[in-house]
Amino acid sequence: MPRPIHATIHTEALGHNLARARLAAPDAKVWAIVKANAYGHGIARAFDGLKSADGFALLDLDEARRLRALDWRGPILLLEGCFDGRDLEICSRLGLWHVVHCHEQIDMLAAHKTVQPHRVFLKMNSGMNRLGLKPERYRAAWTRLNALPQVDEISLMTHFSDADTAKGIAAQLRTFESLTHDLPGERSLSNSAATLCHGEALATKSDWIRPGIAVYGSAPDYPGHSFEQWDLRPTMTLSSKIIGVQHLQAGDTVGYGSSFTADGPLRIGVVACGYADGYPRHCSTGTPVLIDGVRCRLVGRVSMDMVTVDLSPVPLAGMGSEVTLWGRASNGAVVSIDEVAHAGGTVSYELMCALAQRVPVVVD
Ligand SMILES: *Cc1c(COP(=O)(O)O)cnc(C)c1O
Repeated sequence: MPRPIHATIHTEALGHNLARARLAAPDAKVWAIVKANAYGHGIARAFDGLKSADGFALLDLDEARRLRALDWRGPILLLEGCFDGRDLEICSRLGLWHVVHCHEQIDMLAAHKTVQPHRVFLKMNSGMNRLGLKPERYRAAWTRLNALPQVDEISLMTHFSDADTAKGIAAQLRTFESLTHDLPGERSLSNSAATLCHGEALATKSDWIRPGIAVYGSAPDYPGHSFEQWDLRPTMTLSSKIIGVQHLQAGDTVGYGSSFTADGPLRIGVVACGYADGYPRHCSTGTPVLIDGVRCRLVGRVSMDMVTVDLSPVPLAGMGSEVTLWGRASNGAVVSIDEVAHAGGTVSYELMCALAQRVPVVVD
């Protein structure tokens, strides 16, 4: 028998979450963000759940090729644009739209020989200071792009740094709008947090929203909201089984570094899942784990191939019992990936993307 760990991708939940994002911006088209292999879900595995999107956005040409191989004929957007001039030939061949975030990318376009002009998204750095043209250089870039025969329609784009925090989006939105109000073209502004947390402020301002994490069932502003409060559903479940049971007495310790000490008799379930499967090593005693769909707590340190769980809430559990590390148990109970990530000092994005190669994945 193979080691009992596996991940499940929930097709129906992907479709539900995409529809939920659409509801927050009913007049906008939706880019389903599938970078990083669909946030670790696998592009091919997530595709069925996401194919009601208006387009797919990603970073890697190889991922774009895989989408075309799945027979996706609709729009695909390269979120970081082209890395060198030859990428433009692939864009021409695969019909990819691409972001232009710097003058070097405009130079590449100007030197590019193409029959079909390219659809581009010109990105403004409205304050995040990652990719994009500074506000004061944006209009000159637009004018330069607009004069190129290689360029078809120009859309306008920016990205918010604080849509999920108290700082909010107002200053960046003001900057973007003041420099673009009289430019033609479609607008794309919102990631998941902006779409859900600032839906009203942005309702009439976006032609394309760009939800990623919400589509994968995670609250973009956790712990401010939970996934249930946003009416999202988990799209990835990581499950395993108990492969060993230990009976502790007061004073006994568990795992490396003896970081947990029993203060009385305690049954411990040993689970076939560790950090080499993508479970965060920084999760410590108290992190929630479902055993047979009942909330229990992890105790001691996460090791490479195992974690240990206090079985007090589930006296009937033992060898072979179902373990849900994140996602949905067979009785319907959920432990959210947000909670687990938070307990490990990180975010759900990282856990999804870090699901290890050795974990078999099934689609339901
Ligand atoms: C990743 C990404 C998104 C999606 O962000 P989420 O926080 O996952 O919704 C949107 N826009 C751009 C430019 C991105 O790189």
